[in-house]
Amino acid sequence: MNTNYDVIIAGCGAAGLYGAISLPRQLSVLVLSKRELTLCNSALAQGGIAGVYKSPEDSPELHKQDTFIAGGFENDPVTTDILVNEAADAIDTIIRLGVDFDKKEDGDYHRTLEGGHGMRRIFHHKDATGFEIETKLLAYAQTLPNVTILENALMCDVRKTETGFSFLVMKDNEYLTFNSRKAIFATGGIGRVYEFTTNSAIATGDGIAMAYKLGAPIKHLSYIQFHPTAFNNKTTRECFLISEAVRGEGAYLRNCDKERFMDRYDRRLELAPRDVVSHSIIFEAKRTGSDDFYLDITHKDPEFIKKRFPMIYKNLLDYGYDMTKDLIPIFPCQHYLMGGINVDEWARTGVEGLYACGECSHTGVHGNNRLASNSLLEALVFSKRAAKDIADKLSSEDKKPLVSYDFEIDKTAPVIPKGIRTDIRKVMQKAYFVMPEVNELKDGLNLCKEIMDFLDRYTFKIDRDYIEAKSLATVAYIVLSEACDIAFGNVELDIDYEAGF
Ligand SMILES: Cc1cc2nc3c(=O)[nH]c(=O)nc-3n(C[C@H](O)[C@H](O)[C@H](O)COP(=O)(O)OP(=O)(O)OC[C@H]3O[C@@H](n4cnc5c(N)ncnc54)[C@H](O)[C@@H]3O)c2cc1C
Repeated sequence: MNTNYDVIIAGCGAAGLYGAISLPRQLSVLVLSKRELTLCNSALAQGGIAGVYKSPEDSPELHKQDTFIAGGFENDPVTTDILVNEAADAIDTIIRLGVDFDKKEDGDYHRTLEGGHGMRRIFHHKDATGFEIETKLLAYAQTLPNVTILENALMCDVRKTETGFSFLVMKDNEYLTFNSRKAIFATGGIGRVYEFTTNSAIATGDGIAMAYKLGAPIKHLSYIQFHPTAFNNKTTRECFLISEAVRGEGAYLRNCDKERFMDRYDRRLELAPRDVVSHSIIFEAKRTGSDDFYLDITHKDPEFIKKRFPMIYKNLLDYGYDMTKDLIPIFPCQHYLMGGINVDEWARTGVEGLYACGECSHTGVHGNNRLASNSLLEALVFSKRAAKDIADKLSSEDKKPLVSYDFEIDKTAPVIPKGIRTDIRKVMQKAYFVMPEVNELKDGLNLCKEIMDFLDRYTFKIDRDYIEAKSLATVAYIVLSEACDIAFGNVELDIDYEAGF
């Protein structure tokens, strides 16, 4: 197998694939997928992708206003302008690549409504939009002769070299080294740092931890979104999401007494942005003394529900709930990361030649709270921009032979002790859930630091458990450091970049 590429992309979700597709065909591209090709957050997205496309009554300006309101006006005005203005191009391109958005009887696209949007501007494929986008992008990328996609290929380490980057990759228990001129991290979110999350098993923040180690600034990692309506069976780590679109189509939230309660907290009721609804649920839980909450769409036509939400309907039936007749038990859980590897409007990180896009990046478009369905859009818009910038740079750079870093691997080293990831998850769930527990922050931070030091001090077998434990510890440490900074002022981060991590 070729070991040298113009561009290596870590991540095979919407951001990684769209980046690969958007690069010029004369550049060689390697795409890494930690596990199965469609095991990622992109494939789980239900609601849709937001954007103003062929919709004369709507405008990018209105989309921007809604994005700003949801984001608490902390959004970056430059990147948010780019997001809303380049949405039409992104949506048009994926339609041309075969993405089949639902249409109305008159042939126009069916645009749905979600919390925080003032207009119907969410394009969707039933209630499984992400899977549709992911599989169509993947199918197209697999036809491209310049793109190689490696499944079950875990990025274990990345080093900057004189000519670009060297990647240590574990594939089928073998260690491989790949080199590239430019690198894109599109490694997704951090949901698995929590006990309860909607995120896929791959979401352990590997790219963020590795970019941090390379010296790339990380921004607003404590800006974490908790989705208000995850299915609450109180046992499974990956909580099945009940899309915002269910509230968009008229579902009510009810408390333990089966009463609607949102009018106590926000005049937008069930259609308030996610953070407002999640906070309202926590306040209502304190008021009533009960964690029992429900989503109720039983007043809508059963045939409409089954047709509009076939995947949610079927999944709930498997759990014993018929959403056309039963109240659906829900509770907030970790869902999305607004912060990440800080990038500019071309997805450039603080490390020369390293780009980041999708959920692992911080473009600033989401402010302190993402507006529903803006993240698939962000993944597409900014990965295309990364591709454009890389193409421009590589067209004018000398193509020197690529230098390879010599990674040290001790194949006799022991595996890490069990339970480390569980400890980190417990800390995060306790200290930094919907409303941070100020009394738990410092203890949590200390424990994460101890775990990081322990993993650095000894040599362990380099495998998925080890890489993910390091990533989770690093990510949790940064989140809690930021939270402590906010709560108590100036807690210094002191991770030793040279400690062999
Ligand atoms: C249940 C759910 C529903 C959602 N619904 C919506 C929605 O309706 N609309 C919307 O806009 N957004 C939605 N989102 C958010 C959105 O899906 C994600 O933010 C977006 O898809 C992220 O895309 P990505 O390409 O950045 O990451 P992902 O799609 O998660 O891809 C990450 C990739 O990185 C790879 N990777 C990670 N670490 C490594 C490593 N060490 N080595 C090699 N590869 C690695 C993984 O294998 C994977 O291929 C939803 C999210 C969830 C979880």
